[in-house]
Amino acid sequence: MSPPPENFYADWRSRFGVVHVLRDENDPPPERLLQAIWHHQRLQRDRLQTADGKSVRVLHPGFASVEGGPDFRGAVIQIGDAAPCSGDVEIDLRVGGWRAHGHDRNPNFKNVLLHVVWDDARPMPNAPPVLPLSHSLDAPLGELGLWLENDSPRVLPENLRGQCCAVLRELDETRQTRLLDSAARVRFQAKAGQFRARARHAGWEQALWEGLFRALGYKHNIWPMQNLAELRPRWTRGADPAFALQARLLGISGLLPLELTRAQAGGDGYLRRVWDCWWRERDAFSDCILPRAVWKFHGLRPANHPQRRLALAAHWLASGNLVSKLERWCASSIGEGRRVGDPEIFGTVTRRPSQALVDSLREIFEVERDEFWSWHWTFRSARLKKLQPLLGDARVTDLAVNVILPWLWTRAAESKNGRLQHVIEHRYAAWPQAEDNSILKLARQRLLGVGRSHVLRSASAQQGLIQITRDFCEHSNAICENCRFPELLRSWNSGTGFPPVGN
Ligand code: SF4
Repeated sequence: MSPPPENFYADWRSRFGVVHVLRDENDPPPERLLQAIWHHQRLQRDRLQTADGKSVRVLHPGFASVEGGPDFRGAVIQIGDAAPCSGDVEIDLRVGGWRAHGHDRNPNFKNVLLHVVWDDARPMPNAPPVLPLSHSLDAPLGELGLWLENDSPRVLPENLRGQCCAVLRELDETRQTRLLDSAARVRFQAKAGQFRARARHAGWEQALWEGLFRALGYKHNIWPMQNLAELRPRWTRGADPAFALQARLLGISGLLPLELTRAQAGGDGYLRRVWDCWWRERDAFSDCILPRAVWKFHGLRPANHPQRRLALAAHWLASGNLVSKLERWCASSIGEGRRVGDPEIFGTVTRRPSQALVDSLREIFEVERDEFWSWHWTFRSARLKKLQPLLGDARVTDLAVNVILPWLWTRAAESKNGRLQHVIEHRYAAWPQAEDNSILKLARQRLLGVGRSHVLRSASAQQGLIQITRDFCEHSNAICENCRFPELLRSWNSGTGFPPVGN
């Protein structure tokens, strides 16, 4: 009988597949493990050398990428006698992966400054310097496999937190909230200013539609959506029904498939009718049809496909009363009661995120059903089993925070309606948190040192955190070089006044 293991739980983990254990120390590690080794720098860091013999100093391994492209973004690395550089790091088991995976032809990989691989390898011509790791680990591979299995390469190791993290964690919740609110106010007013500037040239309604279209483009397709919205005076012709507007928008966008699928009878029926409609108008718009190449589809969730987003916008436009509905929504009371008219907002009012706000705005933007798009993600996709709403809560929040509230607020400011401005500010402050995204996830870990945070329970607090990363992180690098945010925080927290500008 074999002796009882020292730790029965550790034995379960390794024997029953909870953790990946390498069968043979000579096996190459899985790529995920190699990424974790790089992320946590489980390396003899003073011995790192490229395949052509240059020393490698890793000042920062970079941030694990969650949106495709190179595995780590924004690393800071010094190779040989050259000055330290910021750039990306790609991890592959073998050096041949650079060409085999098409990185040499992919523009997303043009900032890669180091290709980290497992095995010894010769440098390749016209490719980034290669760093083999197999002889530079700080522990045997099997041991690292067990140790690192607990750590997702997506989670930022503690020692890679930003220099402001310790100071931010010293602030109590009230001060953290005040800081985020102040940063959120800057962001909100900048968005409002953009609407004001556009409205001066194009009018308030046009400025609103451009904002709505940009928001529907999500992050991948903001510009083609903006282009389409700028053409709105040309493609709106009185009281068109939603279907006619869908056909026109899909035609001008360049997103109409040219051929029928033969497989999707229902889809082809709709496509045929769209073409019948678009066919008659195409010549009138031939000078402004967008090339399909301006649209990005890579990494796009099916629900965010621009075809479906345009179909939704067509319903809003066809309703003809979106602006008056928004005005009524703004003037009505939505569980705000005594807060209306309070002189102060950010930081001074107890704010509980209010789902009633989201629900009330969703009612305005919701489309009961679309004969085709409620059951399809795209022209080509199979019919869905269940009706899928054209707009979810997450998108309603994006619309509110980025478009509706700043637009309403700046209009109220122009007409010197301070009371209405306060109502809108309260709604902004009380809007429930938005869907998580990669910027927020990284900022939470890097600046606040937490996976979740109570102070980020509102969308405006999230906006504040994003504003701080834009203002400070994006002007520094992964090692927080020359970032004055920690110093400013310390002065603000201790009440000693600000450090001199320009130091
Ligand atoms: S760059 Fe500045 S704001 Fe960003 S994490 Fe570093 S210290 Fe914080």
